[in-house]
Amino acid sequence: MNKRSIIIGSGVAGLTSAAVLAKHGHQVTLLEKNDTIGGRARKFSAEGFKFDMGPSWYWMPDVFESFFNYFGKSCADYYTLERLDPSYRVIFKDETYDIPANMEELMAFFEKHEKGSSSWLKKFLADAKYKYDVGMNEFANKPSLSLLEFADPRLIGAAFKLQMFSSIRKEIQKGITNPKLRQLLEFPVLFLGASPENIPAMYSLMNYADLALGTWYPQGGMHKIIEGMKAVCDEQGVVFKTSQEVKAIKVQNGKVHQVETDSTIYDADFVVASADYQHVETQLLEKKYQSYSDRYWDSRMLAPSSLLFYLGVDKKIQKLKHHCLFFDEDYDAHADSIYANVSWPEKPLFYSCCPSKTDDTVAPEGKENIFLLVPIAPDLEDNEALREKYFSIIMKRLEQHCGEKIEKHIIYKRSYCINEFKQDYHAYKGNAYGLANTLNQTAFLKPRIKSKKVQNLYFAGQLTNPGPGLPPSIMSGQIVAKEILKQNNN
Ligand SMILES: Cc1cc2nc3c(=O)[nH]c(=O)nc-3n(C[C@H](O)[C@H](O)[C@H](O)COP(=O)(O)OP(=O)(O)OC[C@H]3O[C@@H](n4cnc5c(N)ncnc54)[C@H](O)[C@@H]3O)c2cc1C
Repeated sequence: MNKRSIIIGSGVAGLTSAAVLAKHGHQVTLLEKNDTIGGRARKFSAEGFKFDMGPSWYWMPDVFESFFNYFGKSCADYYTLERLDPSYRVIFKDETYDIPANMEELMAFFEKHEKGSSSWLKKFLADAKYKYDVGMNEFANKPSLSLLEFADPRLIGAAFKLQMFSSIRKEIQKGITNPKLRQLLEFPVLFLGASPENIPAMYSLMNYADLALGTWYPQGGMHKIIEGMKAVCDEQGVVFKTSQEVKAIKVQNGKVHQVETDSTIYDADFVVASADYQHVETQLLEKKYQSYSDRYWDSRMLAPSSLLFYLGVDKKIQKLKHHCLFFDEDYDAHADSIYANVSWPEKPLFYSCCPSKTDDTVAPEGKENIFLLVPIAPDLEDNEALREKYFSIIMKRLEQHCGEKIEKHIIYKRSYCINEFKQDYHAYKGNAYGLANTLNQTAFLKPRIKSKKVQNLYFAGQLTNPGPGLPPSIMSGQIVAKEILKQNNN
């Protein structure tokens, strides 16, 4: 009889495991608590606007392509990708940088802002390419179940060459003195959920992803990725059950045998839990089958949460680009409020995304679709008054940069913050992006993809290996499915 695999959660990690296991003959059922699929990459529509609820940066296109290639398909079978140029805009207090997509123009841009910096950047990006190739293929693709996986002398050598043990901030400071260029090069590691002094220099691979591989956009919105992945799952025969919140994972003799929702009991030979790891462990498993204590979870450094606003505006706004980073306040003070002296930031940095600059289908004609994001510490107090306070602060700065009134042209507005992350995704402390990729939370030091106590229970997604973000979560789903297939064949 075909093995029955139950997947908990329909984010990109769950969709990936589901599709791979189904391709290899498993009878796969995917259970999702919400009424729509995609997890943090869901979408919603309102007043003629289509909003992507989470991810907006399409980086590392090779990872998405390799997902579809595994099924004999290509991204192009499901969506059209466009490379953005400029890749994004960075707004400082006294100056605005548009980051060119073209490498020669990028070099000239660096040279203009710091004489001699382009030759350093060339070398930095060549190293970053090495790190991307080795890091993504040799390190990130490992199940990281034990230190022994890294005992290959080639990998030990690579770990030093990859600079796993020094910080990316130090690395950048060696070559660049202009504080704005430094900040620009530190920006990509924000996706890893910690501040640059705590991120290993190995992650300059993110600079390669940013400046060399580029920033892309799938026409129709980021949700096209989910629609493409769902189509692949359908082709492989995955059965989807939405509005099915898993309430318990039932274990017998050290093996899961059933998964229970409010309404149904599902028999299982394998389970992939791609819902937030801490929720699955502490809420769905009996205590004796949990691998990590409450103290363990509390001591983890989580990636930030976010205050988000989805806005529909009744006019076009000339000065906005698709992606704008508002670095017009002190970066370290904001980081301090997230990682050290936990509080709402006094002068927040924020990010705006305006996909209607690239895509006519996400807003009615003549209107603008805007998404605003303020990174904040997880588990802060969250209420309407605080959200509004921050909305006023960032709206003023947005209007100032754009040189026109925006607030009074808003015809649709929805906010989203810690309370919704907890409610919608069972997110531990309301995190948005999972666990930070600090050195002591990397590889075998992360919560394991295979339960230590239950033989056929696996974990995928942004709280386990290799880490937060769409591409790593997809990789996590692939790694888990391959481990299950290995166990199945033994
Ligand atoms: C605001 C925001 C912006 C982001 N920006 C980017 C970006 O620009 N680029 C990028 O690459 N990444 C970005 N990310 C990160 C990226 O979205 C995530 O890393 C990725 O989507 C996580 O996928 P996942 O499958 O691990 O988890 P999720 O997408 O969270 O999926 C887990 C699923 O499990 C479900 N679930 C939870 N509990 C249960 C239960 N008991 N029973 C059944 N189902 C359950 C949840 O409802 C959810 O659907 C962003 C994230 C956020 C929140």
